[in-house]
Amino acid sequence: MAERIEADYLRWNEFDKTARVASHSDVGVIELMPIADAAQFAFKYVNGHPSNHRHGLPTVMAFGVLADVETGAPRLLSELTLTTAIRTAAMSALAARVLARPDSTRMALVGNGAQSEFQALAFRDLVGIRELRLFDTDPAASAKLAANLVGQGLQVRICTSTAEAVKGADIVTTVTADKANATILTREMIEPGMHVNAVGGDCPGKTELHRGVLEAGSVFVEFEPQTRIEGDIQQMPANFQVTEFWRVLSGQATGRSSAAQVTVFDSVGFALEDYSALTFMRDAAAELGIGEIVELVPEATDPKNLFGVLRDEPRPVAASAALVASAIAPARRAAETA
Ligand code: NAD
Repeated sequence: MAERIEADYLRWNEFDKTARVASHSDVGVIELMPIADAAQFAFKYVNGHPSNHRHGLPTVMAFGVLADVETGAPRLLSELTLTTAIRTAAMSALAARVLARPDSTRMALVGNGAQSEFQALAFRDLVGIRELRLFDTDPAASAKLAANLVGQGLQVRICTSTAEAVKGADIVTTVTADKANATILTREMIEPGMHVNAVGGDCPGKTELHRGVLEAGSVFVEFEPQTRIEGDIQQMPANFQVTEFWRVLSGQATGRSSAAQVTVFDSVGFALEDYSALTFMRDAAAELGIGEIVELVPEATDPKNLFGVLRDEPRPVAASAALVASAIAPARRAAETA
């Protein structure tokens, strides 16, 4: 997934990009995230409701669609809840591989909910993290994360505060959910050379970093017009300097310039990463022979006679159908194989 995201970020100028469309309520947000290149259009439906656990639902739920640009025909309908966790972790680790100190081995992980295992494993595999310091205001979430990471080759310690978790860390990942201008990290916690991977501040009025943290380092973003509205930099003036990550990846801008520099990846999640995830899911579904064909668009013998479809006998599913894929089956299969 990280390779796919990296390859698509290097094609940045080929994409028709837009900040996502958000519908806010007092308790959360529902968003649509469209993007297209010359061949394919993709969108993701995603919500963010930090108090959803009270309803027995995840904070983040998503699904997405891939369609042909040439005809507009939908080709893939996929779950993206599990896949969002995978693509977000892949994106975080990709950014850290470019921006963090190459000798980073210890990470603080603040916020130990649904995304956290994926972040931990991506940083182990792609960045070389070997030690984790966990903190969550809900001790049961930290206990769950520690239990899920047993046998994964990571040295894990549960801490009693964010400050304790962050002390001495090379990388700090914040992945909390609270519809508030929180200050999970303050300036005093930041040590020279740290890389901050700020994942949970991704909506107007929902931030994790004190502005002093942003002022202490160089800030990197996915798509600046969207991050200005949704990221931790929403609290900064419009001329506050940030660098789009694709420019660093493609060698057009400097990332980390010294071992002592503080770098901040102000992540909000961008549609390009979901485009990568959807094309990855399409190819994985084809390779593994999973998913099913559904007749998403009625097939008419005469395309102008749509009404005739209501009169005709049911017909077999044909070219206009989309493949429905789920990440759950391939993930389980991969786990069984392992
Ligand atoms: P979740 O609700 O499953 O977990 C969030 C955890 O944060 C909970 O365990 C909660 O107890 C903890 N928490 C809340 N306030 C805290 C605080 N002050 N200090 C420490 N812990 C605290 O949510 P999730 O699915 O893991 O998502 C986490 C966040 O990441 C959400 O805000 C979500 O919107 C965001 N997110 C961002 C991206 C992206 O691309 N940037 C992608 C997916 C999710």
